[in-house]
Amino acid sequence: MLDMKWIRAHADEVQAAADGKKINISIRALLERDEERRALLQETEEGRRMRNTLSADIGKLMQSGDREQAEGLRTQVKQLNEKLERVEAKLADVQEEVTRLQWLVPNVVSPDTPIGASDEDNVELRRVGETPTFAYTAKDHVELGELHDLIDIPRGVKIGGTRSYVLKGAGLLLHRAVQQLALDLLLRQGFTPMEVPLMVREDALVNTGFFPTGRDQVYELEGEDKWLVGTSEVPLVSYYADEIVDVQKPIKLAAVSTCFRSEVGSGGRDVRGLYRVHQFAKVEQVILCAPDAEESERMLQEITGHAEELLQLLELPYRVVAVCTGDMSQKTYKQYDIETWMPSRGAYGETHSSSNLHDFQARRSNIRCRNAEGQLAYCHTLNNTAVASPRILIPLLENHQQEDGSIRIPAALQPYMGGAEYLTLP
Ligand code: AMP
Repeated sequence: MLDMKWIRAHADEVQAAADGKKINISIRALLERDEERRALLQETEEGRRMRNTLSADIGKLMQSGDREQAEGLRTQVKQLNEKLERVEAKLADVQEEVTRLQWLVPNVVSPDTPIGASDEDNVELRRVGETPTFAYTAKDHVELGELHDLIDIPRGVKIGGTRSYVLKGAGLLLHRAVQQLALDLLLRQGFTPMEVPLMVREDALVNTGFFPTGRDQVYELEGEDKWLVGTSEVPLVSYYADEIVDVQKPIKLAAVSTCFRSEVGSGGRDVRGLYRVHQFAKVEQVILCAPDAEESERMLQEITGHAEELLQLLELPYRVVAVCTGDMSQKTYKQYDIETWMPSRGAYGETHSSSNLHDFQARRSNIRCRNAEGQLAYCHTLNNTAVASPRILIPLLENHQQEDGSIRIPAALQPYMGGAEYLTLP
């Protein structure tokens, strides 16, 4: 967790970040509780020292046969023990409260992060690609999926309940093709591909900043100290927990994984189709680099660029937005979202999320490196989606649909689809 020295040194900044991110914590109250904890700790240590001295004195008095004075001291020790018990119990309570609050302390945000209350206040940075116009009534991805027998939502729901789906035939092939295209792109950029545990221990979720604030988003495996990850960022970062890493060259990791999300709180939002589901696949990029603000900013631009390259290969129009404080999570220092044009929504919808965490995760996960002066320091971590599917199938099917109902496969994807240029109607 973030240490108190750091929190004290950044108190105003941290409070502003908490307010901006709508995290209910008073940093002043935390610091006061910590003062109280330190005073109680001192009182406990002094009490124990005094008890040791008295016990030694009792021993000496007993040896010299002065039983009466020894008895007097015994009464003092008894009173001291009773007092110590009370102080220690109070210390345990205060310590628990300090720890609880400490885990809630958010990362500060970058100076260029827009201040805002919700995603409506995110700031558009650029738009790339032309949004299509259709001279006919365009279909949405659910209709296209049914027409081509690619997506079966009713049977998905029959098997898995709400927000479930089945991908079939070319639907499954497309789902795998976009993942392989994304992975190949990352391999060209020097990423190490990894297969990682998706059932993880609580520590991994706490240390990477998903717990305690996002606890209700994660599925717990009952009866085990294990949770199903919502993103492979958790195991990829935790891979180096409690280690000293060499980041003279940034460490670049990629995983292709299933992601599980409870989506508690999303209620009736995005209930049609594949936009918001409980289980999906994600090719994820994670970077660990030197704790240097310029270096991690460069890495943020780089991983954002990889996602943009992927969307350009898929010939999809998108925009990049700077995420505002109110739409940021506890752990994030700076974030861009990439939103891809989804004709059925008549809007850009989020498909990628690119974040610089600075040393927030590394502090909690105890991942250190040597800085330029050779001293140990916490490294910086970053992550971004390379592709998340089936959400990406929404713009892919909808933007590339043709009047005759067929779907054009972008050139970069064709080698992964057996060379097919179109999905034609069965
Ligand atoms: P995140 O890891 O929350 O930044 O999400 C990364 C990407 O995963 C998002 O931009 C979406 O493309 C995708 N994603 C997140 N949650 C869901 C979900 N419930 N259903 C489908 N795709 C999702």
